Amino acid sequence: MVVYGALDIGGTKIAGALVDPQGRLLVRSERPTPAREPAEVLMGAVTGVLDELSGHSAWRDLARLGVASAGPVDMSAGTVSPVNIPGWRGFPLIERIRSHPRVPAHADPVLVGDAVAMAAAEHWLGAARGVDSALCMVVSTGIGGGLILGGRLHAGRSGNAGHIGHISVDLDGSACPCGARGCVEGLASGTAIAAHALAAGWTPPAGAAATAAGVAAAARSGDPVARTAYDRAAQALAAAIAATTALVELDLVVIGGGVAQAGDTLFAPLRRHMADYAVLDFTRDVPVVPAALALNAGLIGAAAVAAAALVGPEGTAGVAVGATPVGPRASDGGAVPGPRTSLPLRDGAALG
Ligand SMILES: [Zn+2]
Repeated sequence: MVVYGALDIGGTKIAGALVDPQGRLLVRSERPTPAREPAEVLMGAVTGVLDELSGHSAWRDLARLGVASAGPVDMSAGTVSPVNIPGWRGFPLIERIRSHPRVPAHADPVLVGDAVAMAAAEHWLGAARGVDSALCMVVSTGIGGGLILGGRLHAGRSGNAGHIGHISVDLDGSACPCGARGCVEGLASGTAIAAHALAAGWTPPAGAAATAAGVAAAARSGDPVARTAYDRAAQALAAAIAATTALVELDLVVIGGGVAQAGDTLFAPLRRHMADYAVLDFTRDVPVVPAALALNAGLIGAAAVAAAALVGPEGTAGVAVGATPVGPRASDGGAVPGPRTSLPLRDGAALG
């Protein structure tokens, strides 16, 4: 049997798994991310996860290794610069994973951003299964996203396509850390929802931190300030989703991440605002649904990307184990293939 290796690197944990062609996790390993430590300490945690996975008997069937990382990532260079992991800036993560003594050459690791991996996971086994054109978003402390276009994951040249958090929906809005103004993330992230509610007079319960989940609880109990905070976030999301729908004619929008856990507190005003912004015939009534794979979405998505990278150049689904690795390899010298612009990922059947 073929297995796919998966790594999911985030600001709080570094997780790894061996995943079978049905998307089941055969073994899972996790370490806390030493996010404030130097680059080599961070890499040590990744190595620890790889050591553990490679000790499992299924490792001998490893076909390809997928790596999902907090962004930004540079898929073509194999480097990561996660905003919440300051020790890694342009860190050559893929080269370092490739040099792990138990990572075989044929399993050449392929990198994507974590939200792109989430889109791959939702398309493979979750809410976007079988959908031709979808936007999958992660609304959490930040906002990310990934696109399925023409039935395939569209990762983009650098692996960041679909990064909807930094679309501007307010021309003269607040300055965003990215350098632009009025970004969706500054209006609709969990951080923004809590900050807006606090500024408008909401106070968290005694002893509790000011979080979007706390604001959601207050909104459910009828607090008008808390409701307004979610309504404002929903409006920003609706404007960005409507714009994306107009650009690529979405069939479905999937929203995951901590803020989506608010359920109807977010989705009800979001659908209402969608009716105001998505008004053209071809943009109207696009379903907006919660993600199906909260748990392990990053790992499943990394495995999906690994599986897609094995598919042959004709786009045929493949158990193409042993096929020529598609990602760039430094060891290939001058013959480094060009960056991939889309991964030929179809539904679960294509992975078997
Ligand atoms: Zn921004």
